[in-house]
Amino acid sequence: MARRILLLGPPGAGKGTQATLIASALHVPHISTGAMLRAAVAAGTRLGKQAESVMASGELVSDELVVAIVDERLSQDDARCGYLLDGFPRNVAQAEALNDSVVDAIGTVVLLNVDTEEVIVRMMRRAEEEGRSDDNEEAIRRRLEVYSGETTPLVTFYDSAVLEVDGMGSVEAIFSRIMIALAKS
Ligand code: ADP
Repeated sequence: MARRILLLGPPGAGKGTQATLIASALHVPHISTGAMLRAAVAAGTRLGKQAESVMASGELVSDELVVAIVDERLSQDDARCGYLLDGFPRNVAQAEALNDSVVDAIGTVVLLNVDTEEVIVRMMRRAEEEGRSDDNEEAIRRRLEVYSGETTPLVTFYDSAVLEVDGMGSVEAIFSRIMIALAKS
């Protein structure tokens, strides 16, 4: 089974939830650029200070910055036998940078398909529960635009490596669809 996996899908698609489940089932690290950036913001590091306002507005932080974070993370021992990337690459420039630094960086792409209305509902619900600074109406709209403009070209970029999975339904149902798709790949 392929172990260098990219989980792709719109903001609010449930990537974080599914990524945690997939990574523990496959015994690979879950590498989330969003989570790493939020940790940097919470810790008040120089990196976090640079990223904070960009993230709150729903824009992407610079490719240079994220590529550096991911390069560093992928060079750690636990990533040698595979990984599950969540939130990176997020545009073609990042995908090219990843290919330049890691041979066969991505073996399989799992694309979670979720209706736009549903992701908006999920993010507004999460806003009440978790208080993420980018879960407000304006930032959500911008994140969806950035996803369709910058991230969806990755489906063409990775082409035959892409497995489309229906991301609607319960967490368990979606997880089992993903595992079935991966097992067949
Ligand atoms: P979501 O997919 O719900 O928008 P993430 O947690 O993946 O949430 O990302 C949150 C924010 O972190 C993004 O809107 C962006 O500002 C920043 N970010 C995360 N990953 C990247 C990346 N690969 N490139 C640029 N910015 C990123």
